[in-house]
Amino acid sequence: MASPVFNAQRLLCRICPGLRGVCGLHTTSSCASKDHYKVLVVGGGSGGITMSARMKRKVGAGNVAVIEPSENHYYQPLWTLVGAGAKAVSTSRRSTASLIPSGVKWIKSQVQEFSPDKNCVRTDDGKEISYQYLIVALGLKLHYEKIKGLPEGFNYPKIGSNYSVETVDKTWKALQDFKEGNAIFTFPNTPVKCAGAPQKIMYLADSYFRKTGKRSKANIMYNTSLPVLFGIKKYADSLWNIVKTRDLNVNLRHNLIEVRPDKQEAVFEKLDNPGETVVFEYEMLHVTPPMGPHEVLKKSMLVDEAGWLDIDKDMLQHKKYPNVFGIGDCTNLPTAKTAAAVAAQSSVLDRTISRVMKNEKPDKRYDGYTSCPLVTSYNTVILAEFDYNGQPLETFPIDQSKERMSMFYMKADVMPHLYWHGLLKGFWGGPGPYRKIMHLGMK
Ligand SMILES: Cc1cc2nc3c(=O)[nH]c(=O)nc-3n(C[C@H](O)[C@H](O)[C@H](O)COP(=O)(O)OP(=O)(O)OC[C@H]3O[C@@H](n4cnc5c(N)ncnc54)[C@H](O)[C@@H]3O)c2cc1C
Repeated sequence: MASPVFNAQRLLCRICPGLRGVCGLHTTSSCASKDHYKVLVVGGGSGGITMSARMKRKVGAGNVAVIEPSENHYYQPLWTLVGAGAKAVSTSRRSTASLIPSGVKWIKSQVQEFSPDKNCVRTDDGKEISYQYLIVALGLKLHYEKIKGLPEGFNYPKIGSNYSVETVDKTWKALQDFKEGNAIFTFPNTPVKCAGAPQKIMYLADSYFRKTGKRSKANIMYNTSLPVLFGIKKYADSLWNIVKTRDLNVNLRHNLIEVRPDKQEAVFEKLDNPGETVVFEYEMLHVTPPMGPHEVLKKSMLVDEAGWLDIDKDMLQHKKYPNVFGIGDCTNLPTAKTAAAVAAQSSVLDRTISRVMKNEKPDKRYDGYTSCPLVTSYNTVILAEFDYNGQPLETFPIDQSKERMSMFYMKADVMPHLYWHGLLKGFWGGPGPYRKIMHLGMK
């Protein structure tokens, strides 16, 4: 007889077909694995580490494992400042080993296959690992190769990208080497993580050129696939003011499709005139690559039509497999993909899983909170914070659509601490409680 089920969560059961597959007495697992964890976390990035810390506190040492292949973990939001020479890349790095909470098993592998019907995953070394509860935190995949001429083009000078640890220093080099001509910044025709980052580096480049006396020789261009500068009107209005005052050129619905690094040319398709392309010479090019879900997720039974993890937008529980949950960039939550969103999701997910483990209905809802500190110079930030409805959800009782020095120091100095010592240790669940206090309970 199969092992008794771990909770009364009514998982699909093949042993009691008379109950139309729903029993609550047996696990459905026919996974051959001897490696079993009460909670298995797949992906040990921002979302994976914070959830493994929270789950360890909940179910105890030895009962949680995280599958993560990388030796090092990076605080990616810092790369905006690294690309502009304001921070060293080393300050964004910690070893994964130092971040995995004690009592959580680190399985240093990649997941190659999900078998949610068997409560099991297979890793690249052929091992099967079974679970009672699965948290998917895989992040997303960068697709530089979808732009003709990349990634080989990064071997040439004058081109960089803040989105990868391999290319972020090349942005800073391209900025320093700039002499005269076009400085071009791109936004691809796919969902991205931190939708503000592609233009933050443009504002920093503008400031850098002004500081170094090169601004009059630079024609700065932001070529974006989107029909808007930023998705939330309140902040977009402020950003349009900035681009006008600083003489930055915005080309909407322009999608980078090819880089000719030997000629320093970038080819864009005009999305509103199919088939029409335009070629710009560049003296500096910053590429934001197309992004999408990882192949291992796309080919699994866990996803929606677009290949993202298909979870309930309020409770973060999988729509079909009730013992599967998701967090972060790999999910189909209709909000901007950021570490700030991961933080807010982590406290909701913690609560949802607690309730499910006790066979109770989840009761805490994620409101879509996400945040994007729009760096507009070496000492100013517009702190965008908003929810599923695209409505501003600001923490501070001031107008956050204004450029502020205080918000820059928050981004550059406070947030990294909050990340390493709060979020990754499972203690920071977003600013919700503080927002309430700051707004005297009115928000
Ligand atoms: C340039 C830049 C600027 C940004 N700025 C901000 C900002 O200002 N504010 C903000 O809040 N956010 C910002 N972000 C976004 C933020 O970093 C991400 O949204 C956040 O880190 C997502 O966390 P995650 O856990 O979903 O994914 P990740 O942290 O990317 O983790 C995913 C993990 O899954 C692992 N993995 C992948 N495949 C497998 C597999 N097959 N098996 C096992 N593990 C696997 C990966 O190795 C990785 O460690 C920025 C990002 C970038 C790149």
